[in-house]
Amino acid sequence: MNKIIFATYNEHKMVEIRMILKDTGLEILSQKEAGIQIEVVEDGKTFEENAAIKAKAIAGIAHKMPGFEKSIILADDSGLEIDYLNKEPGIYSARYMGEDTSYAIKNKELLRRLDGVKEQDRSARFVCAIAACFPNGEMEVVRGTMEGRIGYEIAGENGFGYDPIFFLPQYGLTSAELSPTEKNSISHRGQGLRLIKEIINKKQN
Ligand code: IMP
Repeated sequence: MNKIIFATYNEHKMVEIRMILKDTGLEILSQKEAGIQIEVVEDGKTFEENAAIKAKAIAGIAHKMPGFEKSIILADDSGLEIDYLNKEPGIYSARYMGEDTSYAIKNKELLRRLDGVKEQDRSARFVCAIAACFPNGEMEVVRGTMEGRIGYEIAGENGFGYDPIFFLPQYGLTSAELSPTEKNSISHRGQGLRLIKEIINKKQN
């Protein structure tokens, strides 16, 4: 195993991925850097299924490419679960109210749907499943979560997506008010990446 290919076109994710996986000693490439251009249909019913579908599809191509036969393919799927809304938007987080609808509108709508709901019933979590497909075809999938609740108003300029309505009681702030380093240290994606790193390190030894 000599390389990691992460199935994403998102450069923000790649910064975090490179930071956390640096000490595996493996070369880390995005899907774009590896020259793999396919859009995978995420038709799974869970975060884990979607991450595995993506990793398997990219591995099917990468493992046949000269120089990439021994690469580890990673893919993630993440989203926000709001308990009061039966875990919506869940795996449809990116598509909720339409891909092109701004998060200012999506966040406002979610606050409206929780209008009048008491603090104890506003529990929510960010979930991130990460799948790793190894050169021998083995697949491992892990899950990282960040627990919090839906706030009462939009707050914060950092982060992206649903961060401005995701309130972390232990900080008294939304995840959009944390610095990127603070968020990475507790985030669902950070946690998932650290779990997958442990698996990769074990397999290398
Ligand atoms: P994906 O993993 O790139 O498919 O992300 C799915 C969607 O989940 C994003 O488009 C966001 O709407 C939401 N999401 C995932 N992680 C975060 C986060 O850390 N902050 C805010 N929104 C997130």
